[in-house]
Amino acid sequence: MKIKTARIKECPYCKSRKITTGIQSGYAQIATGLIGRSSALIHDICTDCGAVLLSRVEKVELFAKKYEKEQMKED
Ligand SMILES: [Zn+2]
Repeated sequence: MKIKTARIKECPYCKSRKITTGIQSGYAQIATGLIGRSSALIHDICTDCGAVLLSRVEKVELFAKKYEKEQMKED
């Protein structure tokens, strides 16, 4: 499983620039509500104060597809 690099460069709480990423997967995945379509979460974490600075889904394309479907229903 590929873990992306951190997007946040500086912690807004303690001003540390020692940011790394962690991945939250297994039963803690984020579901789209569609069967079999869920994604792990990637967190940018400050290694000095432990703050979770940014959480984002790993498989953003699943949510993009869901959004497109929702838009088509509204038309
Ligand atoms: Zn910090």
